[in-house]
Amino acid sequence: MENNKEMRTWLNNFNLPHPLVIAGPCSAETEEQVLKIARELKDSKVSIFRAGIWKPRTRPGGFEGVGEIGLKWLQKAKAETGLKMAIEVATAAHVKLALEHDIDILWIGARTTVNPFAVQEIADALQNTEKIVLVKNPVNPDLALWIGGVERLYNANIKNLGVIHRGFSTYEKTKYRNNPEWQIAIDFQNRFPDIPLIIDPSHITGNRDMIFQVTQEALDLNYDGMIIETHIDPDNAWSDAAQQVTPERLKQIIFDLTIRKETDDADEYQIKLAKLRSKIDEFDAKLLDVIGKRMKVAEDIGALKKEKNVAVLQNKRWNEILDKMVNDGSQKGLSEEFIIQFFKAIHQESITHQEKIFNQK
Ligand code: PEP
Ligand code: MN
Repeated sequence: MENNKEMRTWLNNFNLPHPLVIAGPCSAETEEQVLKIARELKDSKVSIFRAGIWKPRTRPGGFEGVGEIGLKWLQKAKAETGLKMAIEVATAAHVKLALEHDIDILWIGARTTVNPFAVQEIADALQNTEKIVLVKNPVNPDLALWIGGVERLYNANIKNLGVIHRGFSTYEKTKYRNNPEWQIAIDFQNRFPDIPLIIDPSHITGNRDMIFQVTQEALDLNYDGMIIETHIDPDNAWSDAAQQVTPERLKQIIFDLTIRKETDDADEYQIKLAKLRSKIDEFDAKLLDVIGKRMKVAEDIGALKKEKNVAVLQNKRWNEILDKMVNDGSQKGLSEEFIIQFFKAIHQESITHQEKIFNQK
């Protein structure tokens, strides 16, 4: 897949604004719910209405979507509001039904992007389509898999392509539902600057209070748009209740966002700066994570020493660590003074943690 300006042009061809706003419920629930939300979003900055018709649930027993009947509701909503309609498709059968019901935009969900067989099946079913197809990042942090999904569509002569950044699964709990790992999306954007990139703050945060902040961060990184789960009664939504916002809140979020122009010199500087800062933030988070883990290991050593009645401070071992780090650090361009200060601080904190263990009854 070469870089290709043509891929960007669908935003203009379909007369879509910057930033592109896609909004609507996680799931279509009833005809009334779909119509009520669509009416609220008409005459706003929203140009595309989203709704899940078939819901991929992690475990069985949850609400798995209303199925085909929901497509009729979307057709009604489209006729009444003029909004374009977007749904998730995961199989060739979904694609067939979506096309029969005049759905405008199809997206491939994160659990589907991980599966090349499934993506190929969708690509084959959509061969040569003029529809807009958006590919969510795979649930696991794998850039190649994401690119591979887009390539399968591109090779099926589907040219109106975009990608959605919805964050990545982690086993460890973080403040996000799905860790953004901004660097992966930035790497995608650097490789394929002509493929529109859309942020999905709803699935990244899992929390309606964090939607604004993550969307702003994405706009600062020059994303092309956003997809935000919006529900008339978020707390009683049948899926993803905690992350959905009301249409009213959505409008406020859009109003509060600072939209950056791509062409302006000052903006170019801001975008570069934001990209670099997001790298730094990611490294800092990793540093803290590693240091925290190191302290846990130090505590385990403390427990072992306590059991064997060995002293906390082992000078020989410490001097060996320091020598090695000064040496390795200089190869990375880090000064001896910095390495000594840095590791002394870490060592001191380890001793404090070990002493805490020693003093436990
Ligand atoms: C969705 O958008 O409703 C959805 C299921 O998202 P994801 O594939 O990102 O989990
Ligand atoms: Mn959802």
